[in-house]
Amino acid sequence: MTSPYPRPSKDQQAQLLRSIVERCARAPGDRAPIVVFDLDGTLMDNRPRTAAILQELARELHSEAHGEAERLASAKTEELAYLLGDSLRRLGVEHPDLVHRAESFWRARFFSDSYLHHDIALPGSVEFARACYETGASLVYFTGRDLPLMGLGSFQSLRDLGFPIGVVGTELVCKPDAAIPDEEFKRAEGPKLSRIGRVVAAFDNEPGNCNAFAEMFPQAHSLFVDTQHLPGAPPLDGRVRVVTDFEM
Ligand SMILES: [Mg+2]
Repeated sequence: MTSPYPRPSKDQQAQLLRSIVERCARAPGDRAPIVVFDLDGTLMDNRPRTAAILQELARELHSEAHGEAERLASAKTEELAYLLGDSLRRLGVEHPDLVHRAESFWRARFFSDSYLHHDIALPGSVEFARACYETGASLVYFTGRDLPLMGLGSFQSLRDLGFPIGVVGTELVCKPDAAIPDEEFKRAEGPKLSRIGRVVAAFDNEPGNCNAFAEMFPQAHSLFVDTQHLPGAPPLDGRVRVVTDFEM
């Protein structure tokens, strides 16, 4: 897939990521360095979660001898779009009743603890997060997932994938309520990160969030992880750097 964003070469990306790891060392008298990570589409690829949910729906349709079961069963992670409606169209699922049923089936599962184990780590993300942590940074997982429905599953998923979590110098920050828009939440909570230290880098896959970080933390690197994002996003602020994943 082609990207409209200026992607770095592998060497440029490795150099940039290594320079961030170096900035995670705490100088004497300095405030604690913090690296901020979004989860969905940033550290983790959540498309396998959607693929698993569509397979589950396909099995349900199959048991009803529904004619569209096979279309849904053919859903593959790498062919899924950001929006479920677009993915269904790609699969040829267009009947409004089935689209409606698929969307409510998906929504009831996608935003829940018990399906987060399907997520996989983005290439290099575990190693990069560990390198930042081991060099001296505190890690803040700053996600648009909500605490009531997804907090425990997110903690478990971070642990199971091998990210530093549940140890001193790590935090998982979730929205108190799923209805709050992500960027509004991140803009409201972002300044509070100063109570634990000084942000050296913030990674996110939503251009609006990256722009917000560039404004809130002008001394830090704001990095856009070029995976998938909400359609209709604003253009990237000129200060935001682009990476495709976390491979160094
Ligand atoms: Mg995200």
